[in-house]
Amino acid sequence: MKLPSNVSLHQKTLDFLKTPQKMFLDGEWVSSIKGNTFDSIDPSNGSILTEIPLADETDVDRAVTAAQNAFDTAWKTLAAADKSILIWRLADLIERDIQVFMELETLDNGKPIGKAEYDVKSTINHFRYYAGWATKIAGSTLPSSQDRLVYTKKEPLGVVGLIIPWNFPLMMCAWKLAPALACGNCCILKPAEQTSLTALYLGHLIAEAGFPKGVVNIVTGPGHPTGEALVAHQNVHKISFTGSTAVGKRIMEKAAQSNLKSVSLELGGKSPNVIFADAPMNKVLQALHWSSFYNSGQECTLGSRIYIEKKAYQQVVDTLLENTKKLSIDSGLANPDLGPLISQQQMNRVQHSIAAGQKEGGEIILGGTRCAAAHLHDGYFLEPTIFSHDNDRLTIVQEEIFGPVVVVSAFEDFDEVVARANDSNYGLAAAVWTKDSGKALRFADRMDAGTVWINGYDQFDPSVPFGGFKQSGIGKEMGESALELYTKEKAVWFNY
Ligand code: NAP
Ligand code: MG
Repeated sequence: MKLPSNVSLHQKTLDFLKTPQKMFLDGEWVSSIKGNTFDSIDPSNGSILTEIPLADETDVDRAVTAAQNAFDTAWKTLAAADKSILIWRLADLIERDIQVFMELETLDNGKPIGKAEYDVKSTINHFRYYAGWATKIAGSTLPSSQDRLVYTKKEPLGVVGLIIPWNFPLMMCAWKLAPALACGNCCILKPAEQTSLTALYLGHLIAEAGFPKGVVNIVTGPGHPTGEALVAHQNVHKISFTGSTAVGKRIMEKAAQSNLKSVSLELGGKSPNVIFADAPMNKVLQALHWSSFYNSGQECTLGSRIYIEKKAYQQVVDTLLENTKKLSIDSGLANPDLGPLISQQQMNRVQHSIAAGQKEGGEIILGGTRCAAAHLHDGYFLEPTIFSHDNDRLTIVQEEIFGPVVVVSAFEDFDEVVARANDSNYGLAAAVWTKDSGKALRFADRMDAGTVWINGYDQFDPSVPFGGFKQSGIGKEMGESALELYTKEKAVWFNY
C-alpha cells in the first residue's frame, strides 16, 4: 500500500488491511477451498492493498447451504420486530465506524473521501429506512363470495444472491441487503472483484450486530466463476444484480436455464440532460459539471447526453468548460473533486470510446487524454472530456461510456429535443431545466425513463423508487417498491 505523505489512517483501517482477508460463510471467516486468491488494487497508484479469496462453485455452494439452513432454522421464524432491531443495530455500527468505511472505500475504489462519506451516510439511512419496513410487510383480505375468507401473505423468497458493481460498492450493498433482510430472506453477497473491502468489513459488523450465522454470507471473486456459480445455483431463488446491460442479459439467460429464479436488474444508462433557454441559469451552471463528471463519470445516472437550446448554447458551454477546468483531480485521500477511474481496463475502455468519438466526427472541446501530472502517473486518471456534436448516431452518443466523458449538442424546439432525448436503448433517467412548469411537466410525461428530475440532478432518497426502463433494467429498488423484489405473494382461500 502507498499513501500520500500527509495522510494517516484510522487504526481499525490499518488493522483490517493487515489481517489476511477471508470470506464470510455461515458466520465463519474462511479461505476459498482451493486456496485461490486475487489482488485488491488501489486505483490511485496501482499498488496492491491486500489479497482476497477467490470463490469457485464449491465455495458458493457452501454459502448457499449455509443460507438455506439459516433460513429454515433461524431467520424465517424470527419475529419481524427482532429483524428490525438487528438491521437498525447494523446501521448504528456502520455509523460508529464511518471513518473506517470512508477510508476503505476511497483506497479500494479511488473516490474522493468526502464523496465516500456521502456514500456511507446514505448507506446508514438505507438500513434504517428498511429496518422500519421489516414490521410493516403485510398482505390483504379480499372480497370474495359469502362463507369464504380470502387473504394474501407476502412471504420471503428464501436464499437470494446479490451481485454488486464497483462504482458505489458499499451503497449498492445496502440498496440490496437492507430490503432483502427486512423481507425475511437470507443473502449471499458478491461484491465486485475490484472493490470487495467495504463489503468484507460490513461482514464483521453483521457478526457483531448479532445476526444469526448464515443469514448473510459474503463470497468474493470475479463474474466468472463466482458470480456465475451464484446465478446458476439451483437453490438460489433470486438474483438482484447491478452492472452492465450485457452481463444483465446473460444473467437472465442463466437464471432461466437453471431454476427459473427471479431476476431484478439495475443496468446502464445514457441519460439526457435538457437545458432550455428559460432555465434557472444559475442553478444549471452550478450543477452541470457535477451532473456530468461526479464519481469520475462512473455513475449510471449521470447526464452524459447534454442538449442545450440554441439561444443559450454558447453561454452554457462556456461556463461548463470553465467550471470543469477548475475540478481538482487527485488521489481520493487528498479529497479532490475527482479521483481515478477504477482500473486500467476501465481506462482503456473509456479511451477507446474517446478515440471512436473522434474518428466518427465528434469534436473534443475539452480533455480527451490521460492526466499528465507526474504524481498521477501510476494511477488511472483521465481528464474530464467534453465532445460537441450534431449527430445523434455517433457511438459516443448512443453507448454508455462510464467514464468522465459527456457529449453536448444544440436543439431548436421542444418536440425535437423530446424525440432526441428518447432516442436511446436506455431509459434510466432524464432531466429538464426550465422555469416554465407546464413545459417541465409535459417533458416529464413524455420521457421514457424511470426517473425524471426537474431543475435538479442526481437526487436520491431511500423512500423513492429507482430503476430503469428499456434496457436500463427490470424492477425498482428503494422505497416500498423494493419489497416486491424480495417477497412472493400467496393467496389463501378459507371456506367456512
Ligand atoms: P459488470 O461486468 O456488469 O459487473 C457487475 C457485477 O457483476 C460485478 O460484481 C461482476 O463481477 C459481476 N459479473 C460479471 N459477469 C458476471 C456473470 N457472467 N455472472 C454473474 N456476475 C457477473 O459491470 P462492470 O463493467 O464491472 O461495471 C460497469 C457497468 O455497470 C456499467 O455499464 C454501468 O452502467 C453498470 N452499472 C449500473 C448501475 C445501475 O444502478 N443501473 C450501477 C453501477 C453500474 P466482477 O466485476 O467481479 O467480475
Ligand atoms: Mg480496488
